[in-house]
Amino acid sequence: MGKPTGFKEYNRELPEKVAPAERVKNYNEFESLYTEEKLNEQSARCMNCGIPFCHSGCPLGNIIPEFNDAVYRKNWEEAYKILASTNNFPEFTGRICPAPCESACVLGINKPPVAIEEIEKHIIEIAYEKNLVKPTAPLIKTGKKVAVVGSGPAGLAAAAQLAKAGHSVTVYERDDKPGGLLRYGIPDFKLEKWVVERRVQVMEEDGVVFKCNVEVGKDIPADELTRNNDAVILAGGSTIPRNLPIPGRELKGIHFAMDFLKQQNKRVSNTGFDAEDILATGKDVVIIGGGDTGSDCVGTSNRQGARSIKQFEVMMQPPAQRTQHMPWPTYPMVLKTTSSHEEGCERHWGINTREFLGDDKGNLRALKVTDVSWELDVMGRPIKFNEVEGSEREIECQRVFLAMGFLHPQHEGMINSLNVHLDDRKNVKAKEGNYRTNVSKVFAAGDMRRGQSLVVWAISEGRECARKVDEFLMGHSILESKDAVNQFEQVF
Ligand SMILES: Cc1cc2nc3c(=O)[nH]c(=O)nc-3n(C[C@H](O)[C@H](O)[C@H](O)COP(=O)(O)OP(=O)(O)OC[C@H]3O[C@@H](n4cnc5c(N)ncnc54)[C@H](O)[C@@H]3O)c2cc1C
Repeated sequence: MGKPTGFKEYNRELPEKVAPAERVKNYNEFESLYTEEKLNEQSARCMNCGIPFCHSGCPLGNIIPEFNDAVYRKNWEEAYKILASTNNFPEFTGRICPAPCESACVLGINKPPVAIEEIEKHIIEIAYEKNLVKPTAPLIKTGKKVAVVGSGPAGLAAAAQLAKAGHSVTVYERDDKPGGLLRYGIPDFKLEKWVVERRVQVMEEDGVVFKCNVEVGKDIPADELTRNNDAVILAGGSTIPRNLPIPGRELKGIHFAMDFLKQQNKRVSNTGFDAEDILATGKDVVIIGGGDTGSDCVGTSNRQGARSIKQFEVMMQPPAQRTQHMPWPTYPMVLKTTSSHEEGCERHWGINTREFLGDDKGNLRALKVTDVSWELDVMGRPIKFNEVEGSEREIECQRVFLAMGFLHPQHEGMINSLNVHLDDRKNVKAKEGNYRTNVSKVFAAGDMRRGQSLVVWAISEGRECARKVDEFLMGHSILESKDAVNQFEQVF
């Protein structure tokens, strides 16, 4: 522990943000960095607890007290090495992770938790600045070839780990650039794309080959990959969005959130697209869905100059604080106000949309909605909603973005032609313990296996899957595992 009394002396502080009115004028990230003194103080708040619950809170098992201590001592190389031993891409998680580690921080029992996510971002940015982020692939190769389908965080993490183990890795991506949702889902104001490009470049220096504009199962047959490689990892994400098939769905002005967000990311990076513009400019916008994707639509609509923005969620408003059903150190499902919400939008909970209403030209003009109340089970979980009588009304709007989550991966093409088995939720079936599908030498990881999730889970899945592939190819693996993290905990 850097400073035994740090947690008593210093309060949690986050770096300054550009004011909402100013930051909505562009798509840039808007958070500054700590001064060295502030970074030092924030790392000093870590108590090096006997049982660091933050490790288990993090899906990657990040070794948090140790890197906080190294940061306090300004030993940047040590801090970077500890962080990089469990996380391939701290520059992504340091920007956009919901930080389950912070929810599990022991200091969080009666004080604001250590600013772990910010510290993580600073470690990796300092490491890049000091030229500590270098290729890690060995000079002597194993002679084994692995194909990874999909270049989101799961595919990237798997590829990075397999390159480190000495295998020759090719990543296939149907989009024009690598990154998956990091590039063409998450807006630039949360994650600027040079951050993704900088990492891809390190991976290329490590020998990873990226083949973009190639959809496996369409542009090349999937069995070509199984024939020409020693192993194949399916990391194609969960891409089929949940629809709202109510009357009026065919009206003009109703779009899936991803179609809207992807276009804007393409506009920002000047990559061009072959579809009609979807814009919120000058429109009354309703976003249906209260999660992260919905919030990204809020931020994007504000930047495009929407006239008004409302976000509707069918569930009830979550509590502001933990309840007895979500005690520390579990991840609490409490009310979350994102930076996009700070920029302006009306949020409504307990609203059900019954019908889209159009004008005589087939354009959306309003929604017909009702309020709902929820029946709860003994654990306080919602089980069934009932519409509130007499609450039906019309909400004027010309744009609707559907942000109600994703059902499962695309089956048409690669998955169907490989004949991989699916689980009950129609994701690719592969056990968490070994990531292997029913098809010989074919593995799966990330949202394609797990269902819609988080970047930190995708990285975790990519890493664990890579280790299983390495074991499959070599009989044993030199790659780190979460078990090794536990051993580290015992040693220190
Ligand atoms: C709008 C939005 C915002 C989000 N914000 C956050 C956030 O702030 N924090 C967070 O932690 N999580 C966030 N998430 C979730 C997170 O982005 C995903 O959980 C994560 O990206 C999943 O990683 P993945 O590698 O499994 O898949 P993806 O990132 O979806 O990548 C899969 C890639 O595979 C490619 N692909 C698919 N099929 C083929 C094929 N047959 N051939 C070639 N390529 C193929 C796709 O084009 C895609 O590039 C967000 C999700 C969305 C949609």
